[in-house]
Amino acid sequence: MKVSIKHIKCPMTKESRDLAKVFIEFLQKRFPLNHDITVLFLGERTGTMTTGSRNNDHVLKVLTKKRLNRDILKTLSHEWVHEYQHSILGRERGPDIGGQNEDEANSYAGRLMKIFEKEHPEFTELVYEGFKNTLKRIDLISEQFVKKDKELIQEQFLLEMKKIGIDKLPYSYSALKQFVDPETMDIHYNKHYKGYVKKLNDALSNKKGEMELEDIIKTISKFDTKVRNNAGGAFNHALFWKMLSPKKQTPKGDILERILKQFGSFKKFKEEFNKVSMDNFGSGWCWLVLTKTNRLKIMSTPNQDNPLMNIIDGGGYPLLGLDLWEHAYYLKYRNKRDQYIKNFWDCVNWEFVNSLYDLKTNKKETINESVDRREKSALKWLNKKFGDLTPVVVDNRTYYIDEDRKPLFYYHQDSKYKDIYINYERIWSFFNSIFGLNTLQTQEILKVWLEETYNLKGVTPPFWKL
Ligand code: MN
Repeated sequence: MKVSIKHIKCPMTKESRDLAKVFIEFLQKRFPLNHDITVLFLGERTGTMTTGSRNNDHVLKVLTKKRLNRDILKTLSHEWVHEYQHSILGRERGPDIGGQNEDEANSYAGRLMKIFEKEHPEFTELVYEGFKNTLKRIDLISEQFVKKDKELIQEQFLLEMKKIGIDKLPYSYSALKQFVDPETMDIHYNKHYKGYVKKLNDALSNKKGEMELEDIIKTISKFDTKVRNNAGGAFNHALFWKMLSPKKQTPKGDILERILKQFGSFKKFKEEFNKVSMDNFGSGWCWLVLTKTNRLKIMSTPNQDNPLMNIIDGGGYPLLGLDLWEHAYYLKYRNKRDQYIKNFWDCVNWEFVNSLYDLKTNKKETINESVDRREKSALKWLNKKFGDLTPVVVDNRTYYIDEDRKPLFYYHQDSKYKDIYINYERIWSFFNSIFGLNTLQTQEILKVWLEETYNLKGVTPPFWKL
C-alpha cells in the first residue's frame, strides 16, 4: 500500500512534517491497510470536520493549525483506526459520539501514541513541542492541587483517628499558650491521653487489630467499663487535638452558615455552648454534634463518654468538643472554668470542624448497589475517562495530563519519598456522589488503577505526609 501525504495551508515546520512521516510509517507497520490512502494535513477546517475526518475515497484529513504535534498525530491515528475498521474489518460507520468504532479509535489512538513514544525516544522533544508554553498553566493548576490537598489531609486526619494508636500532637506544647499553658499540654498529652490509649490496648489485648477505634465507640455497649472509659478517652482526645489551632481562626464555610441558620447568630451559639459547658457537673465534655437527622446540637457527656457511643441518647457525630476535666485546665485556671471556656474560642480549628461537617453531611449511602459493583463501575469510568493520560515531567514531578492539558494527578519521587497528588475535584467528588464510595474505598480503587494503568506502584492516594 502507498500513502500520499499532502500539506495544504499547513503551518507545520519541516521537523514536524518529518516526524509525521515517521509516524505514518509506524502506523503502516502496526495497522497495514489493503489499499492506497491520502493523508491531508490542513491549516483550515473543511466541511464538517472538527479535528479530523476520513471519507470513502480513503482520504484522511487532519487539522494542524494551532495544534501541538502530539494532538496532530493522535488525530491521525484516530482516523487511521477508522480507516482500518472500515476497509479491513468491513464495519459500517457508526455514530460520531459513543459507539464501538469511536471508543475503539479513541483508545487505540492513545495506545499507539504511547507505543510510538517508547519506540522513538529521539522524537520525545518534538512530540511534546509546545508544552513549554503550557508549563506555566500546569503550575497554576498545581496551586489548586495544593489547596485541595489540604482538604484531603483533613480527611486523612479522620482516617488516622479511627485507628487505635497514638495520634501525633499537631503543634508544640506551647503553641496554644493563650488557652492552655505548656505544662498542662505536656501532661495532658503525654500522661492522660497516652494513658488512655495504652490502657485501651491492654484491655482489648487479643481482639486488637481487627477493630477500629470509631467502630468500638459506635458499638460500646458490647464492651465493659474499662474499654468504655479508655476508648472514650483515646477517641475524645484524638479529636480534641485536631479541633484546636494555634492560629486564631474565624468560623467560615458551611458550618458557619448552618450555625447562623439554627442558632440565629454566632454569639447565641457561643452562649449556649458556654452555658452547657458551665452546667456540666464534674468531669466530662461539651460537644457540638451533628445528629442523625442532620441537625446541630450542643450537649455534654459525662466522664469520657462520646456522643457517638450507642449508649448515649440523642447523640450524633462530634464536630467540636471541649474537655471539661480539671486535668485540662486546673494548673493555669484553678477553679475559673469560665475563663478556660472563654479562651477556648481563640483556639478553635474551624477549618477542621467545617471539613468534618462537610464530610458528614455529604455522605450518600443510599445507593442501592453492592460496593463490589460500584467499585467495578468506578474502575470502568476511570479507564474510559482517564485511561489515556500523557505523562509530562516538570521539576521532578510527572504530571499526567489529558487532551486539554489539565493534569489529573502528579507523581513525585525523590530519594526518600514517593508521593502522589490526585486532583480532588475531578475524581473524588465523582466517587462519592456518583458511585457512593467512601474515602477508603476510593483510595483502594485508585491504588489498583494507578498500578495497572500507569505502573505506579507503592503509592496510596491521597498524598499524606506527617
Ligand atoms: Mn483530657
